[in-house]
Amino acid sequence: MTANRRQVIKTMGALPIAAAVPAAGMLSASAAEATAAPHAGALGGRDLFAEVGIEPLINARGTMTYLSGNLMLPEVVDAIRATSHEFVNMYELQDAVGAKLAELLDCEAAMVTAGAASALAIGTAAVLTGTDEEKIKALPFLPGPRREVVIQKSHRYVFDQNVRMAGVDFVEVEGPREMERAINDKTVMGLFFNAASSWYGTPDSVSREQFVEIAKRHKIPTFIDAAADVPPMERLFEYQRMGFDLVTFSGGKIIRGPQSAGILLGRRDLIEAAKLNFSPYEAPIGRTMKVNKEEIFGMYAAIKSYLERDHDREWDDWVDRTERIARAVRRVPTVEAEMVVPPGPANEFPGLEVTWDQDTVQISPDEVIERLRDGRPRIEVAGGGDTLGIAVVTLRADQVQIVARRVHRMLADAARG
Ligand SMILES: *Cc1c(COP(=O)(O)O)cnc(C)c1O
Repeated sequence: MTANRRQVIKTMGALPIAAAVPAAGMLSASAAEATAAPHAGALGGRDLFAEVGIEPLINARGTMTYLSGNLMLPEVVDAIRATSHEFVNMYELQDAVGAKLAELLDCEAAMVTAGAASALAIGTAAVLTGTDEEKIKALPFLPGPRREVVIQKSHRYVFDQNVRMAGVDFVEVEGPREMERAINDKTVMGLFFNAASSWYGTPDSVSREQFVEIAKRHKIPTFIDAAADVPPMERLFEYQRMGFDLVTFSGGKIIRGPQSAGILLGRRDLIEAAKLNFSPYEAPIGRTMKVNKEEIFGMYAAIKSYLERDHDREWDDWVDRTERIARAVRRVPTVEAEMVVPPGPANEFPGLEVTWDQDTVQISPDEVIERLRDGRPRIEVAGGGDTLGIAVVTLRADQVQIVARRVHRMLADAARG
C-alpha cells in the first residue's frame, strides 16, 4: 500500500460515509455503481453506451445541454413509452395537449416546442406572419422593410440569435423613455430576457411592468424568455398574469421533461400563428424543430408532475445533498464548502461552492475539474479560478456519495504532508 493510499484511508476513516465504503474499492469506485441506469433492465442487459462506445458521466455541473440537460422523470419516460405504439394526427395532438397545458398554467393558449430556443424562433415568426400563408412561406425574408424587435441593451444574450433567425433586427434601448421613442412602424415585438440581471449582475433599465405597459400602449406584443426560471413553480404563472403575450420555459431543465422540448404560452392568436410556423406543417422555419408525439406527451407529463411535485421536499433534498458533500470535503484542512442559491430568476436552487488554501491543499480547482473529468466514473463539475462548483440538482440519488467521496479524496490527497 502506498503512503498516498494509506493517507486517504486514514482520512476517510473520519468520515461518516466511510462506513458504507469498502476500503478496497475506495480508490477505484466502480464505474458500474455510478452509471448503471435504473432502467438498464429494459434491454435485457444490453449496454447501448458500451455498444456505441460512449462513456456516461456523472453530471455535477448543471442542466447544460451539452451534458444532455437533465434526467427525465420516470413518469415522463413512462409517458413516452406508453404512447409510442400508436399513431395520432399531430395537428390534433398539439391542439389537445396545448389546451390541457393552457388550463394547467392558467393562460389563453399553449403549445409544445423543441425547447425554449425553438419557442423564441417560432414565437417571433408568429408576430411577423400572423396567419398569412404567404408571409409564413417568405420567412426569414419578409418583403418590405426589416422588422424590428425592441430589447434592452443589457438583455442582449446568446439566445437572441433564435429571435433574429426569424428575420428581425434588434433595436437596443436603455430605460423606459428610450423604449418609448424606439417604437415605430417597423416594430413587431418587445423581447425581455428575464434572467439578464442574474446572468450579468446588471439591473434591468426597464422593469417587467414598465416593459409590458409601454408595449401595450403601442400595441406591440411582448415575449419573455424565462427558460431556466423555475423554481419557484409560481413563475410558470407569473408572466402571463403580468401581461406578457408570449412566455417560454425549457422542458429539459429543472422541469425534467424531454431535453428536446419546451413550452410556449400566451395569447391565443399568437399561439395559433406559432403553430402555423411549426411542424408538422411543410415547411415553415419551425419544421426544422420537429417534436414528435412522444415528446409532446412527455412534456405534458413533465408539467403535470412538476405542478404536483412536493417542492419543499425537493428543495430539502437538494439542501441535504449539498450538506452531505460539504461535510465530506470539510474534513480536509482549510477546505470550506458553502451552499449557495443564485439570486434568480435563473437557476434559483441550491448548489455548493468549495474553496481551499492552495498552499495547504496543493491542487487548483481547474486541476480538480480536469481530474474528475478524466477519472472513473467521469464526473463533470463547475467552477474554475479559485472555486469548485458542484451542482446537486442533476445528480441521481446514488451519485451524491460518489461525488462526495471522489472530491474529498482528491483534496485529501493534495493536502498530505
Ligand atoms: C436554456 C436557455 C435557453 C434554451 O433553452 P432550450 O430549452 O435548451 O432550447 C434559452 N434561454 C435561456 C435564458 C436559457 O437559460
